[in-house]
Amino acid sequence: MQTVTHRQLFFQHIAQTSDFPLGLEIERAEGIYLYESDGSRYIDLISGIGVSNVGHRHPRVLEAIHQQLDKYMHLMVYGEYIQTPQTQLAQALAQTLPPSLNNVYFTNSGTEAVEGAMKLAKRYTGRSEIISCFNAYHGSTQGALSLSGDENFKRNFRPLLPDIRHIRHGNPTDLGQITTRTAAVIIEVVAGEAGVRVPEPAYFQALRQRCSETGALLIFDEIQTGYGRTGTFWAFEGVSVVPDILLCAKGMGGGMPIGAFISSDELMSVFKNNPILGHITTFGGHPVSCAASLATLQIIQEQKLHEQAEAKGQLFRQLLRHAAIREIRGKGLMLAVEFDSFDVLKPIIDRAIANSQNGLGIITDWFLFCTNSMRIAPPLIITEEQIREACTVILEAMD
Ligand code: PMP
Repeated sequence: MQTVTHRQLFFQHIAQTSDFPLGLEIERAEGIYLYESDGSRYIDLISGIGVSNVGHRHPRVLEAIHQQLDKYMHLMVYGEYIQTPQTQLAQALAQTLPPSLNNVYFTNSGTEAVEGAMKLAKRYTGRSEIISCFNAYHGSTQGALSLSGDENFKRNFRPLLPDIRHIRHGNPTDLGQITTRTAAVIIEVVAGEAGVRVPEPAYFQALRQRCSETGALLIFDEIQTGYGRTGTFWAFEGVSVVPDILLCAKGMGGGMPIGAFISSDELMSVFKNNPILGHITTFGGHPVSCAASLATLQIIQEQKLHEQAEAKGQLFRQLLRHAAIREIRGKGLMLAVEFDSFDVLKPIIDRAIANSQNGLGIITDWFLFCTNSMRIAPPLIITEEQIREACTVILEAMD
């Protein structure tokens, strides 16, 4: 009898999202490295798309998970029992934030944090219009997808949410579209899937002012940028503007699934009545994920990983000098290396991955709405030597 490979099972039984999955068969992950069953080794230069900020399987995250597993896993749906992993994490988050962001609603993912925040904004303001940015990605569920600034990804799933309007990220001219009809503006401080676009702090100050004038809530989606990615623990610290609602997920869990939307207790309290149970979830704030997230937060803060991100990002910029590179954008360890076109970039990415044949593959990719730019967002724990190693392979792949 012929044995079926896991590769065959993957294509037979795992729902596919494209005709060209990366298809690496990873057996083990540790720090910045991924290992395939045939022994191939890779540097994960994209942190599993913005997740493994403290690296894969950080020992302190594992320890926190083990300790929590020995106590309890799921006990009850969200919001009923006092679960110390949740309360400790919420307190630790609040301590990283201004006093107006002191109330945390835990979710399982980024898109659920977006959904919760949209509902909160509609319920609190009594308005329905929500504004997001062209080329923004906020998630794949129907509410979050409605916010997406790219018609290609939405067309065949309509009808989606009505009353969504789009503005240009970083363009002050468009701020006039925010009016007293607007429930909320949801925006990334650094636009990730648009190809890592970093507006001036003055833009966010003008945005904050316009939202305050019109009574629209300002929601910062820090699902990619939070937990130290851009050089400060939260990216919004770099623009001196405080949002009404903050979203996080991805890197927050240290490899476990968790997200959150955070606001003032006054704002969040509207979920308690009219109707009661205004937003509920079974698994949101899973105690094991919360324990992992608290350990992740502590590692980043104690080791000041966020404070090293800018210098490490600069090292990438210094090392990645090549005639094929048009521009390098970014903040901290969230970088986009731009080439002339996807056709130039794609073979470079493929060759960097295939370099596993020579002992070390480098995993990078491109952006949903910016296909001519290479994503570089490694674990924050990456060392100078490892950055040099990774850049050597990338440069060779360009030649
Ligand atoms: N917002 C942003 C800015 C994101 O980058 C993503 C995921 N790429 C999401 C929301 C959705 O998060 P999730 O995939 O956890 O639902």
